[in-house]
Amino acid sequence: MAAARRPLMAGNWKMNGLGASIAELSRIIGGFDAALSARIDCLICPPATLIAAFAARAKGSPVAIGAQDCHPGAAVAFTGDLSAEMWKDAGASAIIVGHSERRAGHGESDALVRAKAAAAFRAGLLAIVCVGESKAEREAKRTLEVVGRQLAGSIPDGATPQRLVVAYEPVWAIGSGLTPTAADVSEVHGMVRGELVKRFGAGAGATRVLYGGSVKAENAAALLKAAEVDGALVGGASLKAKEFLSISNVYI
Ligand code: PEP
Repeated sequence: MAAARRPLMAGNWKMNGLGASIAELSRIIGGFDAALSARIDCLICPPATLIAAFAARAKGSPVAIGAQDCHPGAAVAFTGDLSAEMWKDAGASAIIVGHSERRAGHGESDALVRAKAAAAFRAGLLAIVCVGESKAEREAKRTLEVVGRQLAGSIPDGATPQRLVVAYEPVWAIGSGLTPTAADVSEVHGMVRGELVKRFGAGAGATRVLYGGSVKAENAAALLKAAEVDGALVGGASLKAKEFLSISNVYI
């Protein structure tokens, strides 16, 4: 089944990047040559301030642009927030929802993440739904239970498997330099795949399940070639084109 899915390399720039960072995006676009873009999809998720400029620069290239969050509503009185429809209008084709930094730092529940994913689908965009256990949960051997519960609670009714992407991101691996073993990653991805199949039947074969957490050029081959891994959500290492392209070139 995995062979039917095109891997996705997604870069999450978090709260990094200014106008001049378009030069880094250009280097990423330049590195996504015919050989690489024949094999994998690429998505860069810059901060809100750069979405429109990045989308204009990436237009017609193999690199798509995504947002890092959205409000669940379409046009409501909520000062400072941005809707999925606004992201689409600005040129985004995907939205990350439920990143652990938002779950922990902004108290986002599975129900809110589910509503945000539904908003992405409503606007016709991909929803990248993030799930992952804490260090304490892994040590207590609760990883599969926690990730399974987040998954069940964060995917909305009516989700389309083609537009759904799941990112398994162990919280303790994000930005820490620590990573699970390839076997641990495959175990969680296998469980996620099984849950997707229960939910969507054969259609689940279209949903990509990414790994995220301290992916770097040195560990990319082991993590991305693990069974059931359909690409990566990359934070820090996506900020530099050279590093992000080295990771992506694992697929060549
Ligand atoms: C992330 O924040 O989604 C992430 C995976 O970060 P990093 O690659 O820096 O661990």
